[in-house]
Amino acid sequence: MAESEVMAAAEHASAGPKQADLDRCVHCGLCLNACPTYRELGLEMDSPRGRIYQMNQVANGAPITPDYMKHLDLCLACRGCETACPSGVPYGRLIEGARAQLENYRERGLLARGVRALLLKRLVSSRSLLQIAGAGLYLYQASGLQRALRATGLIKLLGPLGDIEALAPSAEVPFFFPQIGKTFPAEGEKRFRVAFLAGCIANVAFARLNEATVRVLQKNGCEVVIPSQQGCCGALAVHAGLREEAQRLARAEIDAVPAKDFDVIVTNAAGCGSTLKEYGELLGDDDAYREKAHDFVAKLKDITEFLASIELRPGMRAVDAVVTYQDSCHLAHGQKITSAPRKLIRAVPGLTFREMVAADTCCGSAGTYNVLQNEMATQLLEHKLQNVNATKASILLSANPGCLLQLRAGVRMFGRGQRVMHVVELLDLAYSSKE
Ligand code: SF4
Ligand code: SF4
Repeated sequence: MAESEVMAAAEHASAGPKQADLDRCVHCGLCLNACPTYRELGLEMDSPRGRIYQMNQVANGAPITPDYMKHLDLCLACRGCETACPSGVPYGRLIEGARAQLENYRERGLLARGVRALLLKRLVSSRSLLQIAGAGLYLYQASGLQRALRATGLIKLLGPLGDIEALAPSAEVPFFFPQIGKTFPAEGEKRFRVAFLAGCIANVAFARLNEATVRVLQKNGCEVVIPSQQGCCGALAVHAGLREEAQRLARAEIDAVPAKDFDVIVTNAAGCGSTLKEYGELLGDDDAYREKAHDFVAKLKDITEFLASIELRPGMRAVDAVVTYQDSCHLAHGQKITSAPRKLIRAVPGLTFREMVAADTCCGSAGTYNVLQNEMATQLLEHKLQNVNATKASILLSANPGCLLQLRAGVRMFGRGQRVMHVVELLDLAYSSKE
C-alpha cells in the first residue's frame, strides 16, 4: 500500500464510526423492514445492514467511493433501524461518525461551501444575523416576490441558493426574539420553575408555537424562564457532520442555562432534544464540561415528555375533530418517546384520535434531506399522506417543527386540507377555547 493510502486508511479509522459500534451488528436483518429507503428501493446497500457493511469495509481500509457516499447520503438518519434492532446497534452514532468522516472527502463548489458555512456556523449561532435574515425572509414572502419567482421557475436559476430557498420556512411576525430573557409567571400556584429553549430558526419560523408552549406551561403552574444567553443547540451542525462546531455550541448552551437554577429544561423541538440529550456523549472527552453536560441532560425534557409526566390542570374545552399523530423520528427513535404525546392528545376532551398506519416511519423531512434527496423525500411523503388521508383526520399532529414543515408541504401536494399542528398547539387550543 502506498504511503498516502496508508495515511488515508488511518484517517478513515480515526474520524469515522467506532469499530466497537460496528461490531455489534450481527447481520440478522431484523431492521430491514423498519428502514424507509429499503422499503422503497428493496436494495441491500440502501438498508441499515448494507450501510453498516459498507462502513465496516471503509473502516478496514476500503476507499471512500462516490457509490459509498450515495448510499450514505440516501440514509435519512431517522434511526427507525435503531428501534428495531435487538442487538442494540447505535446506528445514529454510526451514521453521524460516517458523515463526519465524509466531510473531509466532499468536493463542494465555492458557493456551496460559503452558503453552508454561513448557514451552519454563522447564521444559526447569531441572534442578530437571524433577526436580519428573518426580516429579509418576511419581506421576500410578504412582498409576493417568492410567489413570483416560484411561479415563473426563475428560482431554478439561483442554483444552490434555489435549494436553500425551497427549504425556507414561512417567517412568522412578530418573531419570538423579544421574549428571550423574559420570565413568565405561573398561573395559580407555582409548581415548577422551567427553562424554555426557544431554538434558533424557530424564533422566526415557529414564533406562534413558542408562544403556545409558554402559555400551556403557565396554565400548568410553571414559571417559564427564557434564558437570555441561549442559542442554537448544535443539532444542525451534528447532523451535517460538523462535530467541533456542535461542541462549541453545546458548551455555550450549557453555560447559558445553568441546570441547578431550574426544575426542568424543556424544548418543543424533538430534533433539538435528541441532540441536547446527547451532550454527555458530545462532550465526553471534555474534562471541563463532562459533568456540567451530565447535569444539563438530567434536567432536559421534551415538552410532551414533561407535560405527560405531570398532572395536567383542568380547564380544557372540547375540540370536536378527528386527529391523527405522526411520530417525529427524533422523538420516537432518537429519544424513545412515543406514549407521552399520545397521552396528551387523549387528554383533550371531545376529539377522536385515530392512529395512522406506520406512524413512526419517517415523513422524509430529515433536516435538509427533503431538498438534497428530493425524489426519495417526496416518495416517502406521498406514502405518508396516503396513510394520513385513510384516517379521515382533519388535524395532523406531530411534535417537531421540521416534521410540521414537511407535513404541511405534504398536505399541499397529496393531502385533503388537513390542519397540521404541534401537540402543544392542540393543548393550547383546548385551553384557550371558549365555551
Ligand atoms: S443493525 Fe441490528 S437488526 Fe440490523 S442487521 Fe445489524 S444487528 Fe440485525
Ligand atoms: S436511519 Fe433510517 S434510513 Fe437510515 S438506515 Fe436506519 S432506518 Fe434506514
